[in-house]
Amino acid sequence: MPPSKIADLFTTQTDPVANMTFIVGDEAVAVIDTGGSQRTGEALLKAIRKETDKPIKYVVTTHVHPDHHFGNQAFVQEKPQFVAHTRYPGDFAAKVSYYMERLNSPWFKGTKPVAPTMLVETETVIDLGNRPLILTAHERAHTRHDLTVFDEQTGTLIAGDLLFVEHTPTLDGSLLGWLKVTEQLEALPYKQVIPGHGAVQTGPDAFKQQTRYLSSLAQEVRAAIQKNIDINTASETVLTSQSSEWKLFELFHPRNVIQAYKELEWE
Ligand SMILES: [Zn+2]
Repeated sequence: MPPSKIADLFTTQTDPVANMTFIVGDEAVAVIDTGGSQRTGEALLKAIRKETDKPIKYVVTTHVHPDHHFGNQAFVQEKPQFVAHTRYPGDFAAKVSYYMERLNSPWFKGTKPVAPTMLVETETVIDLGNRPLILTAHERAHTRHDLTVFDEQTGTLIAGDLLFVEHTPTLDGSLLGWLKVTEQLEALPYKQVIPGHGAVQTGPDAFKQQTRYLSSLAQEVRAAIQKNIDINTASETVLTSQSSEWKLFELFHPRNVIQAYKELEWE
């Protein structure tokens, strides 16, 4: 699917704002992320059916943020396995009613989140018929439960929100963990990477730009902690120099500072 637009699901109440992917094997189809509403999920299903009538055996959710999986409901009738990270169900249960409350545009009417039916603890291979996909469950990074998909045949890595392009990276897991997982992803023999937000990448530039942001964030938040700058002041002053490099910076960057501060003050 073409890249979705760069916007925030909650504040703009438009959808889709996260990338959606489907992969067709000799026998079956896998869908990775389905958008943020039933309506988007239905449009995605229609687009897939224009390409293939093979059964949709897997709907993979990269993580719990609603812009990535609230379209899952549109696929229930296809009877796929709904696949997620082994730590996903706990976070899903904790957050889902909050998400539902905040999504109140008519667009989201009828949207009901779907619980996963298949969990990945470390690594699992699913086969669509001569088209194996490696599913990897990561340590804490963007969230506590990021799942990536690697399609060996085309060398395509579907990174979910472990890679942000254009859109400010958003931190909901571990800053130091994310830096570590990014190195692991960069070492994969990929030919292209589909990020959670923004355009498909064929080289390392986007990973490098994101790492620059995350490592500067770690460095400057540590410095603020050392200087006894309080968390709220830090959220308004740390690393604001990078604002021109990213979209939605004012919305997400202060929250990233707060999240990073909470993680790093215990070092
Ligand atoms: Zn996310």
